[in-house]
Amino acid sequence: MRGKDNNPQKKGSSTASSTHITEQPMTWSNWYKHINWLNCTFILFVPLVGCICAYWTPLRLNTAIFAIVYYFNAGLGITAGYHRYWAHRCYKATLPLSIYLAAVGVSAGQGSIRWWSKGHRSHHRYTDTDKDPYSVKKGFWYSHIGWMVIHQNHKRIGRADVSDLDEDPVVIWQHKHYIKAAIFMTLVFPTLFCGLAWGDWRGGFVYGGILRVFFIQQATFCVNSLAHFIGEQPFDDRNSPRDHVLTALVTLGEGYHNFHHEFPSDYRNAIEWWQYDPTKWMIWIWKQLGLAYDLKQFRANEIEKGRVQQMQKKVDKMRSKIDWGIPLDQLPVMEWDEFIEASKKRALITIGGVVHDVTGFIKDHPGGKAFITSGVGKDATAIFNGGIYRHSNAAHNLLASMRVGIIRGGCEVEIWKGINAMAEGKGVESLAVGGPIRRSG
Ligand SMILES: [Zn+2]
Ligand SMILES: [Zn+2]
Repeated sequence: MRGKDNNPQKKGSSTASSTHITEQPMTWSNWYKHINWLNCTFILFVPLVGCICAYWTPLRLNTAIFAIVYYFNAGLGITAGYHRYWAHRCYKATLPLSIYLAAVGVSAGQGSIRWWSKGHRSHHRYTDTDKDPYSVKKGFWYSHIGWMVIHQNHKRIGRADVSDLDEDPVVIWQHKHYIKAAIFMTLVFPTLFCGLAWGDWRGGFVYGGILRVFFIQQATFCVNSLAHFIGEQPFDDRNSPRDHVLTALVTLGEGYHNFHHEFPSDYRNAIEWWQYDPTKWMIWIWKQLGLAYDLKQFRANEIEKGRVQQMQKKVDKMRSKIDWGIPLDQLPVMEWDEFIEASKKRALITIGGVVHDVTGFIKDHPGGKAFITSGVGKDATAIFNGGIYRHSNAAHNLLASMRVGIIRGGCEVEIWKGINAMAEGKGVESLAVGGPIRRSG
């Protein structure tokens, strides 16, 4: 039977059943094997129970304030701790700060620092590819929550080096005792706190525990989904990360994700003072308090390079959609005499070595018929560029759309005519006297 066994190592299985469940298409008979029930319990069923319980649990002001304060601490544990400190090493933290971040980070119910950082480093390294653990290319909901509630083939996830984390005693301790630490910090601590302080055991459990975790989880998931879905791409548009204030508001400043993917080791996500990045502000405050140090920051010059290159890319794209006239290298080359001859039939004017057919434009010339007609069959470079009237940029652009040819040598050059004459066997006499080329002997 297909999909009977999802353990690829198990002996005695048939060929079909020995393949990993993620390699088998989801069907009515095996869909439940694709579901990661443990993750489903913690990120879907428990919050659902919490919402139902909230209906019968009055929300007391003290508990509400506690839940909000604890929410922001847990949020910082993820953004300033898990993300910017451990996953990206954007700054250095003293032991007390490191312990605080590991503790409040655990209370967000998002796995251990080690597991989280490994996945996140892989996400940065393999963004938008099949090796990205939460690639937005597999859909918005996949990147938001699908990658956790549906089994993934871990062999397909890109490798990321976490050897530095394996040397961090706080990370090791938290990883080793994760389940106990998570149960205590997500549910037991808020229940005890609200219960002992003002007798609201149930409110502490439901609001300070379950629902707080639910909201912080959903907010963090937005960095993987929303931040790769809505907003601007001021630094690079080759991959999906985007900057948007809405994502920043939801995620304590992690919404400037285009910048973050370009400069991941910068302790800031927002670089402008008016942009919302409370995680950056907190790291800066910790620095002032002596708790954080060695804050990494990319040089403004490097950041501007990326911004200007991206702007240039956008301008080039816009430029390519505009008709600038026939490119010069595709225009036919005309001899001066050919031009003179042709201008008897059509209104041709040479400007800057380029022949323009102004026949259809004479009646529309803003400077009047007389001036433009006076240039027909002539080199009107000086006249056009200020001899009579200094034409506007728009006029130059319009002129370019009338290009029909290029004069050999750029203008009426006597020396070329002489060489041509020689080639036709008319002798050297017709060469311009005192020209740049002299024959010896
Ligand atoms: Zn990302
Ligand atoms: Zn990151």
